[in-house]
Amino acid sequence: MCGIFGVRGHPDAVHLAQLGLYSLQHRGQESVGVVSIDAGGAARAVRTMGTLSDAMSHELAKIPGVSAVGHTRYSTAGSSTIENAQPALARSKGGYITLAHNGNLINAGELRLALEDEGAIFSSTNDSEVIVHRIAHSRADAPAERLADALQGVEGAYSLIVAMGDTLLAARDPRGWRPLTMGRLGDAVVFASESCALDIVGATIEREVEPGEIVAVNAEGTTTLHPLPKRDEHKCVFEYVYFARPDSRVYGGSVDRARRALGRRLAREWPAPGADLVFSVPDSSNSAALGFAEESGVPYELALIRNHYVGRTFIQPTQAGRDAKVKVKYNAVREVLAGKSVVMVDDSIVRGTTTRGLVAMVRAAGAREVHMRVSSAPVTGPCYYGIDTPSREELIAANYTQAEIAAHLGVDSLGYLPLDGMLESVPGGPKGFCHACFSGDYPTPPPADADKLRFGCGC
Ligand code: 5GP
Ligand code: SF4
Ligand code: MG
Repeated sequence: MCGIFGVRGHPDAVHLAQLGLYSLQHRGQESVGVVSIDAGGAARAVRTMGTLSDAMSHELAKIPGVSAVGHTRYSTAGSSTIENAQPALARSKGGYITLAHNGNLINAGELRLALEDEGAIFSSTNDSEVIVHRIAHSRADAPAERLADALQGVEGAYSLIVAMGDTLLAARDPRGWRPLTMGRLGDAVVFASESCALDIVGATIEREVEPGEIVAVNAEGTTTLHPLPKRDEHKCVFEYVYFARPDSRVYGGSVDRARRALGRRLAREWPAPGADLVFSVPDSSNSAALGFAEESGVPYELALIRNHYVGRTFIQPTQAGRDAKVKVKYNAVREVLAGKSVVMVDDSIVRGTTTRGLVAMVRAAGAREVHMRVSSAPVTGPCYYGIDTPSREELIAANYTQAEIAAHLGVDSLGYLPLDGMLESVPGGPKGFCHACFSGDYPTPPPADADKLRFGCGC
């Protein structure tokens, strides 16, 4: 998964991009990059593995610009290389093309082979570079038309921020899989994956970029194009469940309100009579657990504390095993849990390994009964559209019944929010959402190179 940010027409563009990326850091910690574009259209990039750092700030201070594009990247270890860090930057017909992508293309393999047959040379293994090549191949002059040409026949999920010369462009695939918001800061235009990145730079939200839309901003103003065949909307429901920040608006709705509604619905579907307290697995389920507490009247407590200062490399499973991984990240508050019947609310269960470790920790801290409540449906399939869910073999709900999962986790009861409850709770639902990883209802055929794709994801 990834976060993308772009700003045009501001003397502090590079600094603003950095601020925006701080707010999008949760969307990817594998690598981060900023491309700065000066008044003459010349572009320079600074990219690094890991998260934003002081060292990167020093580098960025040397390349001021009037426009900037930024990217935070998350994907699996297999493709964790600096060559895959974004934004992509290339020269074509004497001008620069900068591109930041969130999402996964499902026909990138075929498109790449076709380009390679024509002699194209790729510098990364990610799917986003395919779009850069296709832009370079376009015979059109106007940047929006070049991007429109490039996107014909590209299948899958993409929210894009692209810069060509002094034009900044934003585009969303026709199904609208990934969010993308547009805002204004004085005369400058800002685009970001989530509105929390507009807040941090002081921009006001104008609107979402629409599914299938290309927005182009240059010295003359803003123009918009709908060059792609219309499709049914498939916004990723997992953005509301887990991925986006609760202080953000995505797809035009509040993530906090969505999660509270999911938690409230969960409390109605799966009440826990007689429970003494409810707690979240911080931070991702805080708002859903609050919703559960509000609806059920069971008091909300802080029973698990998360350590925010442990780097990702330190908690690799190879170093100390799964249990140690959980212990490094979380600790239980004995005074809250001892002797109590408790409701543990989490937003999702994927492999079940973290949850199992947490339940053991909560019991070791003295909890008498543990009732697990999950504010999404069971995850039964992989995602091909930009979220890095593991393969089906590793998904606990794809392989075991609910009773078996409860036994494996060591809980007294287990309740998942059913799919219809989930879709009815999110803003704008129940229609217009992708729920393939929960329902198996994939809007596209699985990509031919599905396994490779999980490791070659450009987002
Ligand atoms: P599990 O018990 O399946 O090992 O882990 C469940 C936890 O993983 C939940 O707290 C949930 O918030 C989190 N989670 C869900 N999806 C993702 C994801 O795509 N990436 C990461 N890092 N965590 C996730
Ligand atoms: Fe989102 Fe799941 Fe659809 Fe992927 S498969 S886009 S995670 S709802
Ligand atoms: Mg979590």
